[in-house]
Amino acid sequence: MLELITGKDINVMYEDFHALHDIMLSVKAGELIGIIGPNGCGKSTLLRSINGLLKIESGELSVNGLDVRKVSLEEMAKMCSNIPTEFPPDFNLSVYEVVMLGRYPHRKNLWWETPEDETVVKNALEMFGIDHLWKRDITQLSSGERQRTLIAKAYVQQPRIMLVDEPTAHLDIRYTLEVMQYFRDLIKREKDIAIMIAAHDLNTVAKYCDRIIMMKKGSIMAYGTPEEVVTERNIREVYGVAADVIRHDNGIVMIAKHPLPNNENIDVPAASVCETDVTDSPDIL
Ligand code: ADP
Ligand code: MG
Repeated sequence: MLELITGKDINVMYEDFHALHDIMLSVKAGELIGIIGPNGCGKSTLLRSINGLLKIESGELSVNGLDVRKVSLEEMAKMCSNIPTEFPPDFNLSVYEVVMLGRYPHRKNLWWETPEDETVVKNALEMFGIDHLWKRDITQLSSGERQRTLIAKAYVQQPRIMLVDEPTAHLDIRYTLEVMQYFRDLIKREKDIAIMIAAHDLNTVAKYCDRIIMMKKGSIMAYGTPEEVVTERNIREVYGVAADVIRHDNGIVMIAKHPLPNNENIDVPAASVCETDVTDSPDIL
């Protein structure tokens, strides 16, 4: 399968704070990749480096075969769409207008939409079940409806890569499952796209994602299939939490038991943490 994101030894700094350490990445078309890890471990920073919003300090990072440092914002918007957790609250636009914003990188005419833009947007409104809301102001939607609007906006951008930051943070369990299923269906339908999703709910990520990146303090601690990454040992080392991981018809289920005393959450180098050690994984190198 075609490799859409390739990263080697990526380091990112916020002034003097070293936010990402020697990140290796390999994401192929057709993959739904989850990014998990405690608050502040660098999930959003990683997503923002991939789409060129954050400059990488050192290393190599290419998207769709192009060096992110050499790609213009407009070119990047054609390849990569971002789905933030929330839409800026002071944006008084209708659902239709928000989704149409996603067409911006493709607009042949900046002043009015072409029939093609309108068709693509209408199809997306139907596909994500928000066509009946098309006139509604985005601020007057439920979290689930707003999230679907943001996914529709990203979809009409017709990207190769979707970068999604905590899409289900404000959603109830039904909407959470629906939103993750939309991403799963998109991968199945489009095939030549890849989706990366940062999220906190390990069970949801394990259920829907092909592979998972587990981060801690700016480093990748484990990378592999849900079964390889969501292990009792990794949860203990990365989150400082005692958990049971149980095999289930749908894969695995994690039950968090209790936080461990600080001294049990030992900081150990990545190589000794991972059941799927990053350096052992041929996919990532
Ligand atoms: P996550 O998304 O996993 O919660 P982030 O990528 O947002 O983590 O943040 C990673 C680390 O970088 C955190 O320690 C955070 O405080 C720091 N950080 C994030 N954004 C900035 C910024 N603009 N300036 C300085 N430090 C930042
Ligand atoms: Mg974040």
